[in-house]
Amino acid sequence: MQHFLLSAAARTLSLKQVFRMTETEAYETFCQLRWIDTDGEAVCPKCGCTETYNITSRRRFKCVACHHQFSVTSGTIFASRKLSFVDLLAAIVIFVNGAKGVSALQVSRDLCVQYKTAFVLSHKLREAMALEAANRSLNGIVEIDGAYFGGYVKPENEKADRKDRRLVANQTGKRQCVVVMRERGGKSLTFIVRNEGDAVPYVRDHVGTLATIHADEGTGWDALHAGWDTKRVNHSVQFMDKGVCTNQAESYFSRLRRMEVGTHHHIAGPYLNAYAGEASWREDNRRIANGSQAVLVIESAMASPVSRTWAGYWQRGA
Ligand SMILES: [Zn+2]
Repeated sequence: MQHFLLSAAARTLSLKQVFRMTETEAYETFCQLRWIDTDGEAVCPKCGCTETYNITSRRRFKCVACHHQFSVTSGTIFASRKLSFVDLLAAIVIFVNGAKGVSALQVSRDLCVQYKTAFVLSHKLREAMALEAANRSLNGIVEIDGAYFGGYVKPENEKADRKDRRLVANQTGKRQCVVVMRERGGKSLTFIVRNEGDAVPYVRDHVGTLATIHADEGTGWDALHAGWDTKRVNHSVQFMDKGVCTNQAESYFSRLRRMEVGTHHHIAGPYLNAYAGEASWREDNRRIANGSQAVLVIESAMASPVSRTWAGYWQRGA
């Protein structure tokens, strides 16, 4: 197979490159990113055989050994794609380039595709980002912090009609807590819980027992002292206390807030987990060039099995 753009030296993709590609070149880019070990030559997903008949006219392959027929997207989250390969590549580059996230509306306008197509694709890309973090464990110095999203109660116009929004009875019950754990100089993990204190079982599952945890004065974190060397910083006094701080966790939340305010306006509810994971992926990869980030996301998406949440989204008529 010819190398159209992804040489080993420059594994990067820009929007300009993508829009110069023919549909065949974009297709072959996907082949290269799915079958890295064979340099883009098809490998049967059923039996692992590398001998295939190439049904070029239909962009499908047939395994010589087991006769299984497949395409470059079979069994990946891009199976049953609605977009051409060029548009799919462009959508991924646009999505990755948005430091504050990209709304589905933006993608649908930029590429002249249906809103629903853009919406489902964006969520599949978030899923691919999340799969990279699955089974991750954190060690060394780990900062932990939580912040609340959703459940906003609009105050009444007249002061006399207003309720005390600090009282549980006057809240919507939709407020959720995003907890982030960041290894200093390493990667992050995010979880959604009701309150900070509920995060302890997640910490147990994902933070090594020899790690040192840095947390603020929130009482939810008191339980951590029993399991880890835990250091606290009192934010009402100072943000850094003898090297103890949660500044990395804070910078994560400022990105998530920017995504909320600048792009999505409302990121609570059932998709909060997906947005929280996307923000952590963006934080962890922020020093990698945009073009290389796009390649990372595609590789991860091509290695990810068919989406359980988003496959058949159309057929269900949702
Ligand atoms: Zn086979």
